[in-house]
This record gives sequence, C-alpha cells and structure tokens, in this order.
Amino acid sequence: MKREGVLYVISAPSGAGKTSLCKEIIDIFPNLRHSVSHTTRPPRTGEVHGRDYFFVGKEEFNRMVEAGEFAEWAEVHGNLYGTSLATLKESRTDGIDLILDIDCQGARQLKGRFEGGVYIFVLPPNIEELRRRLDHRSSDSPEVIERRINNAAGEIKEARWYDYIIVNDRFSEAVEQLKSVLIAERCRTTRLIQGLSATFEI
Ligand code: GDP
Ligand code: ADP
Ligand code: 5GP
Repeated sequence: MKREGVLYVISAPSGAGKTSLCKEIIDIFPNLRHSVSHTTRPPRTGEVHGRDYFFVGKEEFNRMVEAGEFAEWAEVHGNLYGTSLATLKESRTDGIDLILDIDCQGARQLKGRFEGGVYIFVLPPNIEELRRRLDHRSSDSPEVIERRINNAAGEIKEARWYDYIIVNDRFSEAVEQLKSVLIAERCRTTRLIQGLSATFEI
C-alpha cells in the first residue's frame, strides 16, 4: 500500500540526546531517514560531510537563502542551520519518512508551512544532567557549552506547543517512547484512509 512519507520534527536543548535518539531509531525503522541539514558550524571530530551535515561557508549558505532553497533556516548558538527543500521533496516522492533534528525556530517555520508534520520535543531529566552530558561529550569548548546551557531555558519554554514530549532520562526508555510515537503516527486514519480505499469500502 502506497503512502506519503511522514515528517517527524525533533527539537531539544543541546545535549538532551536527540542525535543519539535519532541514530538509534533510524537503525530500527528501515523506511526512516535522517534529514541532513546545511550548517556553517565547523565539523566536530568524527562528523562526515553529507552524512551528519553539509558543512558550508556563510557565503554559500546566504546564497541558498537568497535563492529560496531552504524549507526553513535559523541562527542557532551563533551558527546558521537550514533544511533544504530538495531534501523534503526527495523523501516525499519516495514515500520515505524523514526525521528532522532541528531547533525550535526552524520547527515553527515548518509548522506554519507544511501540514501533517509530527513535532517531538526531547527534555533532559534536569539542567545539571544536561551540563554533565555536554561536558562528557567533550565535543565543544567550555565557552560553547556555556552558551548552549544559557540558551536551554528559552528553548525548553517552546516544548509546550509540540505534539509529544520525551524525557530522556534512561536512554532505553526514551527509545521505546520515540518508537511508540512513530508506530502510532503510522496508524493514523488520515495517513491510511486513501490507500485502504482500494481494498475496502471505507
Ligand atoms: P512545491 O510543492 O515544490 O511547490 O513547494 P512547497 O514549498 O509547497 O513544498 C516543498 C516540498 O516539500 C514539496 O515537495 C512538498 O511536497 C514537500 N513537503 C510538504 N509537506 C511535506 C511533508 O509533510 N513531508 C515531506 N516529506 N515533504 C513535504
Ligand atoms: P544532542 O544531539 O541533543 O545535542 P547528544 O545525542 O549528542 O545530544 O547527547 C549528548 C551526550 O549525552 C552524548 O555524549 C550522549 O552519549 C549522552 N546521552 C544521551 N542520552 C543519554 C542518556 N539517556 N543518559 C546518559 N547520557 C546520554
Ligand atoms: P549541533 O551543532 O549540536 O549539531 O546543533 C545545534 C542546534 O542546531 C540543535 O538544536 C539542532 O537541532 C539545530 N539544527 C541542526 N540542523 C538544523 C537545521 O537544519 N535547521 C534548524 N533550524 N536547526 C538545526
């Protein structure tokens, strides 16, 4: 049965665990892909161009903005991030579900622009744990960590308008919760009704 791809938008303060959750969930659902964003942030150790992000300069990013190539874009923690329309288009036409790991400003833009998206917010159990995870990840300088912690409170205020909230305390439990959201969303009447009407009078 053919169905349209679902757009899952996931946001969280930096360090809450959304990258870890997205990676885990992508290995479980064969029809789900991670949307690769463009960013002006320098790559972290181990990050690969085209897999984790498309790493571009400010000039190229601004050219894409001017050309209307982004479905959404935003400045986050001093860097520019954006999801290209081309990425959304590919998954839509292939019937592939897409998971977008983007900030709240970008999520709001998508909500105003596209119908049918599912919005998920990931919270850490508390701010002390958030700091511990950022320190432990050891991918950012102390200044960058401080900036991200300072931005967390503002980001957490946005959680109220998302469809689902997942508190990432015990990782395996958070994975189960995210899996459940994805499975339930795939069974939504509005997503299935058209495909089923070929078999049933429904
Ligand atoms: P246009 O359809 O190319 O004229 O441009 P739009 O700005 O309306 O949409 C951009 C692309 O995003 C289009 O290919 C849409 O079909 C696609 N799109 C819109 N909503 C969704 C969605 O919920 N999921 C996915 N994966 N793509 C979407
Ligand atoms: P984000 O993408 O939201 O910035 P990451 O997925 O990079 O977050 O996670 C931040 C750090 O916290 C990583 O080092 C990750 O391994 C760790 N982490 C993620 N989830 C948990 C959890 N439930 N318990 C303990 N550590 C976690
Ligand atoms: P990081 O530098 O830790 O990978 O990401 C920093 C923040 O930028 C996170 O909140 C992440 O969700 C957000 N982000 C990553 N890609 C995009 C994107 O394409 N658009 C927007 N708006 N935010 C993004």
